[in-house]
Amino acid sequence: MPRIILHVDMDAFFAAVEQLRRPELRGQPVVVGGDGNPRKRGVVSTASYEARAYGIHSAMPLRTALKRCPEAIFLPVDFAAYRDFSGRLMRLLQAYSPLVEAISLDEAFVDISHREEDPVALARTIKERIRGELELTASIGVGSNKLLAKIAANMQKPDGLSVIWEADAEERLRDLPATVLWGLGPKTDARLNEALGIKTVGDLRQVSLERLQETLGPNHGEYLYEICRGRDDSPVVTEWEPKSYSRETTFQVDVRRRDTLVRKIRALGEEVWAECVEEDGYLPRTVTVKIRFYNFRTHTRAQTLLEATGDRALLVEAAVRLLDRFTLDRPVRLVGVRFSGLRRAAGAGAEAGATAATAAPGS
Ligand SMILES: [Mg+2]
Repeated sequence: MPRIILHVDMDAFFAAVEQLRRPELRGQPVVVGGDGNPRKRGVVSTASYEARAYGIHSAMPLRTALKRCPEAIFLPVDFAAYRDFSGRLMRLLQAYSPLVEAISLDEAFVDISHREEDPVALARTIKERIRGELELTASIGVGSNKLLAKIAANMQKPDGLSVIWEADAEERLRDLPATVLWGLGPKTDARLNEALGIKTVGDLRQVSLERLQETLGPNHGEYLYEICRGRDDSPVVTEWEPKSYSRETTFQVDVRRRDTLVRKIRALGEEVWAECVEEDGYLPRTVTVKIRFYNFRTHTRAQTLLEATGDRALLVEAAVRLLDRFTLDRPVRLVGVRFSGLRRAAGAGAEAGATAATAAPGS
């Protein structure tokens, strides 16, 4: 059976939720990021389309955003509110297919291969329901696989609806930058550009499989050979379970002192533990610490425990100990802590969270 996949992507999600909650912000340049103070360090999580007109985009330092648009309204990130909207979105999508894969709070793949109606009409219906019930807009890409659906969703934003079938993939993808393909990040892009002069998906198609494998290694080379032809057989994975929990902080001033890093990692670990174990009832097995140095070089170190655990002290101290595995010879700009490898606590849900919480008293 041919596959039909939707990629549903909310438009400027965090900013749109803020503009919905506070009508006075509608039509205004709104920037959501950090704790909402653009004079402090932190990065843009989402910019409203009005703010994007000033060249503000995600991951840009807040201070740069402030320079580009001093009259923009800066707001702190309110994850609880966005998670609430996200839950409503995912439930709405589940009405159309049991195969819904949430890839972030505001993006999901939906496998609608089994449905009888016209896929584009169905995508239009879903957009209308999102607008009616969530009062937000989404862009939807329709495609014969996940790759094409995602590329399609990005072709027209906001409030877009685009379609790419595999038969049209060659023409539709030809002039797009090669980085629209997944598995082709900035590093690979630079390498392909340097070694083979590749800029677009069309350029990549001109390269033989052997040549790609020589340049990038056998697996990655073969993968890109397939994917630049619009071929992607990765399944839509229904995963209602979160993959990880994480928190990170950008220091106001770069940090050299190790005990400052230890304190911050411990505090972040406690926060992640509270959300992951106490509130949501998951037991993590892998702890990862991320460090970004003053020059934006970012390193991570991870430890996988013998088994998943809700033990707060064990998890937090594992994070602190990971610090020993970094070479701390430069000032640090950011630290982050992530818990992954999640397993549902026995009994699951909030109750299990409470059990896990009491399992580590006073730790
Ligand atoms: Mg989005």
